[in-house]
Amino acid sequence: MSNCVIVGINWGDEGKGRMVDLLTEDYDVVVRYQGGGNAGHTVINGKGKFALHLLPSGIFRDGVVNILGNGVALDPENLWSEIRELRCKGVEVTPDNLKISHRASLLLPWHRELDELEESRLADRKYGSTKQGIAPFYSDKYQKKTVLAGELFYPEKLRAHLRELLEWKNLTLTGVYGAEPCTEEALESWLRDACDPILPFICDTGAVLREARDTRKSILFEAQLGALRDLDYGIYPYTTSSNTLAAYAPIGAGLPSLRMDRVIGVVKAYSTCVGEGPFVGELSGREAEKLREAGAEYGAKTGRARRVAPIDLVATRYGVEVQGATEIALTKLDVLSYMDRIPVSVRYRIRGEETDVFPFPDELEDAEAVIETLEGWTCDISGVRRWEDLPEAARRYVEYIEEAIGCPITYISVGPERDSIICRNARR
Ligand code: GDP
Repeated sequence: MSNCVIVGINWGDEGKGRMVDLLTEDYDVVVRYQGGGNAGHTVINGKGKFALHLLPSGIFRDGVVNILGNGVALDPENLWSEIRELRCKGVEVTPDNLKISHRASLLLPWHRELDELEESRLADRKYGSTKQGIAPFYSDKYQKKTVLAGELFYPEKLRAHLRELLEWKNLTLTGVYGAEPCTEEALESWLRDACDPILPFICDTGAVLREARDTRKSILFEAQLGALRDLDYGIYPYTTSSNTLAAYAPIGAGLPSLRMDRVIGVVKAYSTCVGEGPFVGELSGREAEKLREAGAEYGAKTGRARRVAPIDLVATRYGVEVQGATEIALTKLDVLSYMDRIPVSVRYRIRGEETDVFPFPDELEDAEAVIETLEGWTCDISGVRRWEDLPEAARRYVEYIEEAIGCPITYISVGPERDSIICRNARR
């Protein structure tokens, strides 16, 4: 049995989805343990091209049990439309291959609206929320003002609970934001249209995981976003509202005592970032355009153009440390093939002083990237499948990063397709 967690080392969008899709072949259970439908994995496989928002990427593999753990922001509306979309494209989603924790909290109808209202109030001081209601959801979860998925099995008690929450939340909607109140009728239709359909998937996923452990099944945990967006360890307040770290996986999944055997950190061969906040070494103009185009860097959920920069070794080393990565998957190496010389952000300069330590968030605003350039390979590498067949300059680029971040790079991805991968001493 081996348990493995796949996490982002940077700002998210590193290509975790394609790594999970590749590795699910070796796992019996795949679990999402935090976050919600605010980001998206893009997966391309024999069944087509898919943008997954909440469903675990193991959903495409026959025989894999997929779990949405208690740590996720369970948005019944979005989940149900995602399930329907997959079914339309011929992917089977049944209570046998999808199980939702009865301890997962529900994202309620007003969370998305509150997100929008707060972002408009902030105007040009906004955090860059995807307006999926994630921040209001997690705030309410910690205030104990939301509903557990398992409560859907107790309709009478649930209605009384929802009425209480409605009364409380309308004080904010109308009093703070001057918006329309939410109504009991709106809640009723939400229960009928969004919650009833997902009822058959809800169960005690802790028990499913315990049984998987006891019968020596292998479990794969899949994170959303990356280390620099972790609520506690990321670039606060430009973080997400949940913990994106590997250490949180057993807690958010439903089996807190579980140990991880492998932590695969996914690093992109250059940097991208969605939303606001400091982004050291950010490229602009023609240079940015070219990289963005080459990497098709537009958000899976929002279509927003991503900000781009050279790979940031200071931030990446920090990400590797806080994730406790045991190995690295380096993705999108093929995207850099057009560059004669490849810029790498090797250190930060903060008010004239150079450092290779990732600083406190406030200091980041003043950090500039110290750039070195490495030789490019300027040829198509997307068909390469063996390490020794990569051009020497590409190997040197990988080895340079590996040395700088102090963690073995065991996978190198050279295309979005499932088999566009070079396994280098990986335990596959
Ligand atoms: P995730 O949220 O970490 O899974 O990342 P995203 O799905 O948002 O972004 C990764 C994007 O890059 C997706 O569109 C993938 O299909 C694509 N992708 C992943 N790996 C590679 C790669 O090695 N090369 C290229 N060209 N595209 C890749």
